[in-house]
Amino acid sequence: MAVKTVVFPRCTSCNRPITPDMRAVRFPCPNCAKVTIWRCEVCRELVRLYTCPACGFEGP
Ligand SMILES: [Zn+2]
Ligand SMILES: [Zn+2]
Repeated sequence: MAVKTVVFPRCTSCNRPITPDMRAVRFPCPNCAKVTIWRCEVCRELVRLYTCPACGFEGP
């Protein structure tokens, strides 16, 4: 039986792994749409800035 490693996406703002029970949101970068921006519920509540790793776009 193969063991599957589950890799959680990481929050773009704080880099914590995003587990399925988190009320996280994801959306494509509004500037380049090349990457998916992830935000965990903590960063949503604190309205932290994210930086797109592809184009450097910063957004709330
Ligand atoms: Zn976060
Ligand atoms: Zn971008």
